Amino acid sequence: MTDHSRNTFAAQPGAASAGSRAAAWGVLMRRIPKVELHVHVVGSLRASTLAAFAAEAGLALPRPAHALYQYRGFYDFIEIFRLAARSMCRAAHFERAVHEYVQDAQRAGALAHVEFFFNPSYLYAQGVPYRTQLEGLLAGARAAERDFGVTVLLIPSIDREFGDDVAQRVVDEVLADRRDEVVGLGLDGPEDRGPPERFTELFQRAGAAGLRRTAHVCEDYAPTPAANYLACHDLLGCERFDHGYRLLTDPTVVARARADGAFFTCCPKPSTRERDALRLGAIAAMCTAGLGVTLATDDPAMFATDLGEAYERALPEPDLDALERLCLAGVDACWLDAGRRDALRLRVAAALTQARAEWGAAAPASAGGEARGRNPSWKP
Ligand SMILES: [Zn+2]
Repeated sequence: MTDHSRNTFAAQPGAASAGSRAAAWGVLMRRIPKVELHVHVVGSLRASTLAAFAAEAGLALPRPAHALYQYRGFYDFIEIFRLAARSMCRAAHFERAVHEYVQDAQRAGALAHVEFFFNPSYLYAQGVPYRTQLEGLLAGARAAERDFGVTVLLIPSIDREFGDDVAQRVVDEVLADRRDEVVGLGLDGPEDRGPPERFTELFQRAGAAGLRRTAHVCEDYAPTPAANYLACHDLLGCERFDHGYRLLTDPTVVARARADGAFFTCCPKPSTRERDALRLGAIAAMCTAGLGVTLATDDPAMFATDLGEAYERALPEPDLDALERLCLAGVDACWLDAGRRDALRLRVAAALTQARAEWGAAAPASAGGEARGRNPSWKP
């Protein structure tokens, strides 16, 4: 992986060729401190690390490590994802996964803060306790902050694929073992396995216990209704939403989400190439509609992407205003305590101001507090 953090804005836009101008824009975006709010621990595993974990767990790989993440289709990807989930059976695996992801994301995209999804239920069948997973993740978070200055929060997540008894066990265990770093509850897995209402009671319990809430909703691989957003917001109490592209099928739901001040963690690199253009078009349209959009990577190692590339894909043309809205939306949507969030906002705003000066733009970046990542003038 290229160490972009060492690059400088060598190319001046006025005198540069189109190619070097594009390269300079990419370098500039990668250097801005960023927040990542939608990444799954399992999907962030380096292939070589997955191979090592699988060998330790006695699990056979379907192909050599260097080709593990070259999928033959969506279901092949799912098979690799499940294999990775089963291979993480010791606390040290979770610690290493977090540490390596933060190292990679900081090099590639100047990661400053990350909130990790993890699914305790993936290891229930193998008898790996929630606490074991949690202790490993917390050790990784502490090491990442020590070594890279990156803050890490955790979001245990319910996978819809599993039964109601498993979902209840996840919430029971999370609420019985509270840690400051575990700030919220998530919902992921196949969205067509029943409506969000199925999880109302569990999410209400989590909210009453002080957990923030988010849900994967209106992703683009299944024809789920835009109204699922309303259920997640009104019944489950979600304030953040992962993906959200299919909201665009219903303008009344888009208007509600805008009025709600909802944030969407959108991922410019989907699992399959066929959805590439659709995904990028949807993210641009969500921004144009004035929704609060932040950029994320979902399963970065498994999708062969990184946080820097997420911005390059979403903003191929230089647009400092759009970059500012996306970066600050990530800060505003994060679940750090107010003091650390405000400090991070100042740091990101200062970096954006410096970037504007270096790029040669006339207007300085605003460090004010009114922006919520809205992008009414977005031009994809
Ligand atoms: Zn996801």
